[in-house]
Amino acid sequence: MRRYSVLEHNRPLVPVESDLPELTGTQVLVKVARSGVCHTDLHVWEGCYHLGEGETLQMADRGIRPPITPGHEIAGEIVAVGPDAGEDAMGRTCIVHSWTGCDDCPTCARGDENLCLKPSFMGIQQQGGYSEYVVVSHPKFCVDIGDLDPSQAAVLACSGVTTLSAIRKFGDVLKDEPLVIIGAGGLGFMALSLLSALGFKGAIMVDLDDAKLAAAKEAGALAVVNSGAEDAGAQIAELTGGGALAVLDLVGAEASVNFALSIVARAAHVVICGLYGGKLSVPLPFFPMRPLHIQGNWVGNLQDLKDVVAIAQSGALKPVPVQERPLSEANDALMELKDGKTVGRSILVP
Ligand SMILES: [Zn+2]
Ligand SMILES: [Zn+2]
Repeated sequence: MRRYSVLEHNRPLVPVESDLPELTGTQVLVKVARSGVCHTDLHVWEGCYHLGEGETLQMADRGIRPPITPGHEIAGEIVAVGPDAGEDAMGRTCIVHSWTGCDDCPTCARGDENLCLKPSFMGIQQQGGYSEYVVVSHPKFCVDIGDLDPSQAAVLACSGVTTLSAIRKFGDVLKDEPLVIIGAGGLGFMALSLLSALGFKGAIMVDLDDAKLAAAKEAGALAVVNSGAEDAGAQIAELTGGGALAVLDLVGAEASVNFALSIVARAAHVVICGLYGGKLSVPLPFFPMRPLHIQGNWVGNLQDLKDVVAIAQSGALKPVPVQERPLSEANDALMELKDGKTVGRSILVP
């Protein structure tokens, strides 16, 4: 089998040939049909996250070292099963839940395996989807997709599960209040689509790019605001009747989070999903006085994935613009994403 791996950070991906792996225990082998190229893969390629003021969080310090095959948006078919995986898993068409843990701790037991202290994520700790085949630790992490388009299904494993998990953190307030979404990229459009599928009021989309905002309006945003405009805060105050109660920051940069904090009402809830990087400084009295609720969201769990697949199967999600390309172009696809040249989601097809 062939896969495309990071052998050295910040160097081109290298094709690596190997035999098909021997399966043990509950493992299953998935023949990859589609593998999305996500921004997180760039962090894997670089080997770090940016913490602001020039500081970085090195993946090597957490034991994550090359060779790494990126890719955590995997759709495919189970073509072999380990001795304890159960024969009925064979032949299932599925997407892979990439955010798994040790499967043996209280966090995993309560179904928050995405938050396990011993993560075992596809494309980070485990060899990921830039490959002809992947090994999955248990067939329960392979969610049936039925007749969903495999490229559309693949993106649910990351942007779908992440946005659903983030939206759920706001609770019922979204029934009556608009969600202010910062970042009109792929996650933003997924969030927009999910809000409408869940019967929520909808979103005010914020971005610096007028073309993206026009597309967001077209896609059904209640309103759009360019955060670069001098009166951006005033526009949001007017649209929300005094201040936003719910803000989802899909960028996660200093500028975006500070913008979020500048537009909120009292008792507002800000959820940060993006990993752009930087530092936040907030006067502590603001927490009790305003009272502020700032929360992070890290991908989602298996139940979130099952739920987002069910929503997609109901036909309620708008298709995401995708660009399918051969697996051999994995490096080009990743570099185009790095250079901001990707139109829609790049999906590798082995
Ligand atoms: Zn991703
Ligand atoms: Zn665990």
